[in-house]
Amino acid sequence: MEHTSNFIKTIMKKDLESGKHDEIITRFPPEPNGYLHIGHVRAILTNFELAKEFGGKTNLRFDDTNPLKEDESYVHAIKNDIEWLGYKWNDLFYASNYFDIMFEKAIVLIKKGVAYVDDQSADEIRENRGTLTEPGKVSPYRDRTVGENLDLFERMKKGEFEDGSKVLRAKIDMASPNINLRDPVLYRVSHVTHHNTGDKWCIYPMYDYAHPIEDAIEAITHSLCTLEFEAHRPLYDWVVRECEMKHTPRQIEFAKLRLTDTVLSKRNLVKLVEDGVIDGFDDPRIASISGLRRRGYTSESLKQFVRETGLSKSESGKVDFRMLEHFIRQDLKLKANRTMSVIDPLKVVITNYPEGEHEYLPATNNPENEELGKREIPFSREIYIEREDFMENPPKKYRRLYPGNEVRLKHAYFIKCTDFIKDEDGNVVEIRATYDPETKSGTGFTGRKVKGTIHWVDASHNVPAEFRLYDHLVLDDEANEDKPFSERVNPNSLHVYNGFLEENMKGIKPYDKFQFYRHGYFSVDPNDTTESNLVINRIVSLKSSFKINK
Ligand code: ATP
Ligand code: MG
Repeated sequence: MEHTSNFIKTIMKKDLESGKHDEIITRFPPEPNGYLHIGHVRAILTNFELAKEFGGKTNLRFDDTNPLKEDESYVHAIKNDIEWLGYKWNDLFYASNYFDIMFEKAIVLIKKGVAYVDDQSADEIRENRGTLTEPGKVSPYRDRTVGENLDLFERMKKGEFEDGSKVLRAKIDMASPNINLRDPVLYRVSHVTHHNTGDKWCIYPMYDYAHPIEDAIEAITHSLCTLEFEAHRPLYDWVVRECEMKHTPRQIEFAKLRLTDTVLSKRNLVKLVEDGVIDGFDDPRIASISGLRRRGYTSESLKQFVRETGLSKSESGKVDFRMLEHFIRQDLKLKANRTMSVIDPLKVVITNYPEGEHEYLPATNNPENEELGKREIPFSREIYIEREDFMENPPKKYRRLYPGNEVRLKHAYFIKCTDFIKDEDGNVVEIRATYDPETKSGTGFTGRKVKGTIHWVDASHNVPAEFRLYDHLVLDDEANEDKPFSERVNPNSLHVYNGFLEENMKGIKPYDKFQFYRHGYFSVDPNDTTESNLVINRIVSLKSSFKINK
């Protein structure tokens, strides 16, 4: 599939034509500290599709240089998400496998006199870094000799020093207008067990030092990342150059994908899980890839959406969440069967329909796609309709069922409400109606017209189901955009109903998707569905005011 034209593609094309590279190699480098989200789809798609377009390759690399926050379970989930999106990585690497090389390169830097061991605390280093208008203060340890630095760094590695007592820093320029170049920290002491290297190391490289080395080792040609790393690029280039790496990757930044009414960052998602606001990283209300998949989004709809958002080299605004919804509707429109479900049931007894009998009425599965075939729907004396499709005292324009009114039952007959029954609390619990056999759907009846059509499910031939209807988990707050997301959590993001599906839906399986008449697109929940309890998630309602600009 042709990737939308973008500035990165232009650079790659030029680099191939000029002979700078004869193959494009990219990588997707997630930190295994959380689940991937829709934003990552932009990075994944860009890396994989651009490389593929030029006949190149893409590595998957776990950037696991910060052992405290990382976990093997995230590694598994990330791989699964990428495969589900339909991408195949060339090689799979762990940044931690390069710890030896990173250490050797640090020795090279020390020997060249461009790295030194500093005894200042993290706080002191921060205080002495200066500001945008003031240069930083030079460390009193900056002029240690090469011999002294080599000795101290070896002893850092051996575990002689406590966490936070010493760091290795690059010796660049404490007065640089780019704060990232004011002697950035390259290594810190951290006595932590690493999920891959165990207790081999008690010093760990910083991201800004590790990442360029990882890229260069793998001969990555174009290292794509998001815009917040733009100011780090001079440091990236410094590391590659000073470490005398054989390959020189080029870092290129693009804008992050952000969505309205959505929490994306892994840090915030972790907090929502810890606070018990959501029941896991695959909660259908969050825009993690696994949450969206569980909700019922297809990989094709996510990719199509991300392609359509384009790729920008400057900060761009939030994308309307409804645009994502647009693409799942598009994808399922012709693929999903259109059937009836009653989410909030109210019983209707058709008093003139013979007791103990039932019949089967024909229906097409998708009027826009004949290939999906036909089905037959059972109909009998007792059916369920949607509670909201009956009103005792309707307002003026109400066209559904009320005493004395006649409506069409989709795929069936006209029925007329003759009476209704209430319980002690005054709630309507049953409707009485009569049907007109003449009005059978498909027979071309033209005798009279009715204004409303409602859907229904037979009361004895059906499949019970639990329906979960969702709303945004967090809402953007126009008045105060800066409010922490925890104060924007929507208390009404989940509504659960117990209702019914058509009988012919027996045997449906997790991830099966349908369009339910008037209700929208739904997908069977993979986690909570059991033999006796079918759980169905609403992916999206049918209509939206959202228009895509093309
Ligand atoms: P988060 O801030 O959500 O935790 P991250 O940037 O820490 O994300 P990484 O694991 O470091 O996550 O990201 C892997 C890659 O995905 C990086 O190249 C990163 O720039 C990119 N990425 C992360 N978030 C987005 C986003 N919203 N849009 C596009 N790319 C993203
Ligand atoms: Mg990160």
